[in-house]
Amino acid sequence: LKTMEESPGGPSQKKVVAVVGGGLVGALNACFFAKRGFDVELFETREDIRQAKIVRGRSINLALSHRGRQALKHVGMEEKIVSQGIPMHARMIHSLNGKQSPIPYGKKGQYILSVDRANLNKELLTAAETYPNTKLNFDRKLQDWSAETGLMTFVRSDGSEEQVEADLIVGCDGAFSAIRKQFLRRSRFNYSQTYIPHGYMELTMPPINGEFAMKPNYLHIWPRNTFMMIALPNLDKTFTCTLFMPFEEFEKITTGDEVIEFFQKYFPDAIPLIGVDALKRDYFRLPAQAMVSVKCSPYHIGSKCVLMGDAAHAVVPFYGQGMNAGFEDCIVFDEIMEQFNEDFTQYELQTMRAHVNSKWFLFRKHIDNL
Ligand code: FAD
Repeated sequence: LKTMEESPGGPSQKKVVAVVGGGLVGALNACFFAKRGFDVELFETREDIRQAKIVRGRSINLALSHRGRQALKHVGMEEKIVSQGIPMHARMIHSLNGKQSPIPYGKKGQYILSVDRANLNKELLTAAETYPNTKLNFDRKLQDWSAETGLMTFVRSDGSEEQVEADLIVGCDGAFSAIRKQFLRRSRFNYSQTYIPHGYMELTMPPINGEFAMKPNYLHIWPRNTFMMIALPNLDKTFTCTLFMPFEEFEKITTGDEVIEFFQKYFPDAIPLIGVDALKRDYFRLPAQAMVSVKCSPYHIGSKCVLMGDAAHAVVPFYGQGMNAGFEDCIVFDEIMEQFNEDFTQYELQTMRAHVNSKWFLFRKHIDNL
């Protein structure tokens, strides 16, 4: 049993912050807390993705926008990540007849970036590790924790258990958060989880003669009423196409020929670019994945635990905001710590809630206006 007094490096007065989840938000959050001088322990259920052969994530690439960049900037990571991203100045709308029309994201010179999820996650883990006061613990799945004592129980893949205590627990363990389970048992905690009727499937568009098959500096969109396909560019000159469609439509297609028929009807210009054989094969490689949205409040239990990222507010991917909003959580919490002099017990929790909720309110308003 590790206690606050026996934090890494021997007895210390420093507060121990346990970040549960080493995905995008957890890894960035570890940097924020480490920068403030806390003893940071990050716990991630997966193996270290920097050593893994196959990295499973929720998508291959994603769109990084201004609010996400602000958070990266705060820990000195903006330039590095931006240099590895591909600017997308506009959406490129593909009509059924093959016509392409750009719709800019902002004013001239403004753009969002297509970034590789696995690479971003690896870079953030490496950045967190450069702080001497941070320890990354992989193969640690949070099984349970106590809101009274803050004692957490982790299991490893060999079945062994480990118990850890921390001053503050930060739940960054995603849309199906195990940390959140304790919140659900408490009075006056609001929670909703909604699956949309759509699923998503990723398909790869390879380069043609070593070059991007379509114009690279765009987020390509094929809008088709109840479903759509999008494509974001990757550094290896491929595009990752994501088909969003009601599950019942996915299920109607059962043979390779039906896949081609379907694409012929709705995305004819994409067939030669993805390739007939690849389409017939890749459509059946993995089943379509579900998409969930999560809302809850409040986001914290006293001064012991706080939820951030998808654990607190998962949104559907179409907004391109889940990660960006999660990154912004790190800034918001950092501002709160600044305001309350890093004293968890002195937080005026109403103020904290109001602060976080006002940001969230603005975000919801932004979404509602889309
Ligand atoms: P996650 O990325 O889910 O990470 C959670 C981490 O916690 C994982 O590493 C997991 O292994 C770990 N974990 C889980 N349970 C435990 C446990 N019990 N113990 C220890 N560790 C645990 N957002 C954007 O901003 N822009 C986009 O363009 C965009 N595109 C998307 C496309 C798709 C198809 C999808 C599905 C999502 C997209 N998103 C996008 C949303 C984005 O993926 C999420 O908002 C983001 O991944 C949230 O990060 P997170 O760290 O909170 O959660």
